[in-house]
Amino acid sequence: MPVYKLDNTKYPKNMEYTLSIIKPDGIRRNLSGKILAMIQDAGLEIVAQKLIHLTRAQAEKFYAVHAERPFFNDLCSFMASGPVSVQVLKSNNAVSKYRELMGATNPKESSEGTIRKAYGLSIDENTVHGSDSVENAKIEIALLFSSLELFA
Ligand code: ATP
Ligand code: MG
Repeated sequence: MPVYKLDNTKYPKNMEYTLSIIKPDGIRRNLSGKILAMIQDAGLEIVAQKLIHLTRAQAEKFYAVHAERPFFNDLCSFMASGPVSVQVLKSNNAVSKYRELMGATNPKESSEGTIRKAYGLSIDENTVHGSDSVENAKIEIALLFSSLELFA
């Protein structure tokens, strides 16, 4: 992980990176093109991207913060149920910008114009993930991408 590339002090104020995942339900339904168009139209730049199939252990590590929650087992099984597409997104305020574009965790509560409103099936199969803080974005990016894969 080239820490210097993710050092926000090296970029204009508020330039950030965030980790995005198009979850198995999105890949299964062939929605990645439409979702990536929404991401790019919102001004988020894709600086790394790949299709991977997480193992159950990798999914557990990724969502370790939720290990004590009742939905943890189902969440990890779902995330390991098929391939996912993972991206590093860059823009001013990328973390909050992408969270806004994703919409609420439960698609039933998400606003018009958001990815989850357009494509989310349920609170379990809600189509996309986005980091919830700059700090967690750094951890998630380091977990899923090597330094050679980042064009930051
Ligand atoms: P994500 O981390 O996947 O981007 P999020 O940040 O909107 O989603 P989190 O609170 O981090 O929401 O929860 C992680 C995932 O766990 C959610 O995407 C959802 O699928 C599932 N989840 C969260 N809360 C619940 C709940 N109350 N019941 C069932 N599943 C839940
Ligand atoms: Mg989350």
